[in-house]
Amino acid sequence: MPRTGVVVVGGGPSGLLAAMSAAQFSDVLLLEEHKTFGQPSHCGGLLSLDANEKLGVDIGKDLVLNSIRGFVFHSPSGFELEVDAGRPCAQVIERSLFDQHLAELAERRGCRLLNLRALSIRQRNGFAVVEAENGIEFSAQIAIDAEGIGRRLAAAAGFNSRVREAVPAAQVTVRCSEVDPSFAHVFLGELYGDLMAYTIPLDRRTARVGCATRRTDPARVCEMICKKFYGDYRPILSSRWAVWTGGPLKETRIGRIILVGDAAGHTKPTTGGGIVFGGIMARHAGSAAGKFASTLDEEKLAEMDENAKPMVRRMRRLLLARKLLSASSDRTLDRGIKIMGSRVEELRSLLRSTDFDFHENVLPDLLQALALTRIPIMLLADVLMRTFNY
Ligand SMILES: Cc1cc2nc3c(=O)[nH]c(=O)nc-3n(C[C@H](O)[C@H](O)[C@H](O)COP(=O)(O)OP(=O)(O)OC[C@H]3O[C@@H](n4cnc5c(N)ncnc54)[C@H](O)[C@@H]3O)c2cc1C
Repeated sequence: MPRTGVVVVGGGPSGLLAAMSAAQFSDVLLLEEHKTFGQPSHCGGLLSLDANEKLGVDIGKDLVLNSIRGFVFHSPSGFELEVDAGRPCAQVIERSLFDQHLAELAERRGCRLLNLRALSIRQRNGFAVVEAENGIEFSAQIAIDAEGIGRRLAAAAGFNSRVREAVPAAQVTVRCSEVDPSFAHVFLGELYGDLMAYTIPLDRRTARVGCATRRTDPARVCEMICKKFYGDYRPILSSRWAVWTGGPLKETRIGRIILVGDAAGHTKPTTGGGIVFGGIMARHAGSAAGKFASTLDEEKLAEMDENAKPMVRRMRRLLLARKLLSASSDRTLDRGIKIMGSRVEELRSLLRSTDFDFHENVLPDLLQALALTRIPIMLLADVLMRTFNY
């Protein structure tokens, strides 16, 4: 049986970033079930401008399709709140090319990449054993499971995968007569489901329109937005997948198997965006796994848990924000967005000064801005209503 230091399952951003970090200390083998990395792609591709620093990789300019200057929030009753940073505050990337770029970097850094589907990850005789299709088995000192939101291997390996909490999502890329390339739009309220819907412009004529919701068919919401905002449009690519907004899983390591990325619930609970959060956590896990594989020192894994704590706390704070948003009735959302509309300058400077990824930092300012309004009471009423199912 081929034996290696670290075996990674899944060649999305989290698996590839974990593999690159592990390769600094150990030999690494990565299995990806698809022939082409990054395909099929389900992603909006919206990233912070400094994602390359956070992920420790250079995102080449040719992968960036557009820069966003601000956001337009649509309240349930149709009120629009535009927050313009006045300068680029986020970038839109071509996700499939991004994954392919990471795969090339990983190979250059010495990782061995195989296009093979893993069937199981188990622990046997002190090793992590990955059984792949065609009856091939790989034995490693440690395995990293970066299989994404499906979490089939994780569940079979004994993790509490909570996979039923994943939120169904749909996205369609459309061509239309005119798109403002500077603003992404966020749609909130019952009409758009229980999470949110969005449009992300790619250029003056193309946009990605997406929705994640458990309450209704997300593809229908996308269609409704396209009809309403783009009139005469032509869909050129559509996909269905799922996003994770449930916060980090409690247990992300059992013995010699570590979960990372969507498989571990490492996304922003407010939006489900997971490239940067999953990537940061995957880099911690990768370097710990690499060090462990070369020393067999369990302390390296304990260090990983310690290093991950600030990010875990961050995700928990964002989870609270997500829960409050999801509990808010249309009335509360409407009123909240209108109140914020009277404080656009403050929002603008918040958008300019805040890290796009770590937006939990704006929560104290937002809460302070809303504290002396009726919003806290309305929110409390919403939470009670939802709790007692009125
Ligand atoms: C509609 C939509 C829009 C989104 N928009 C954004 C956005 O704008 N910004 C953002 O940051 N995030 C966004 N996300 C979330 C983002 O796509 C995920 O958080 C991210 O892809 C997670 O990366 P990952 O590597 O953990 O998992 P994945 O990207 O899912 O990669 C997992 C890989 O593992 C492979 N795999 C699975 N099982 C096996 C197996 N048994 N054997 C071998 N290989 C296997 C899969 O084929 C896949 O290639 C969006 C998600 C959706 C659904």
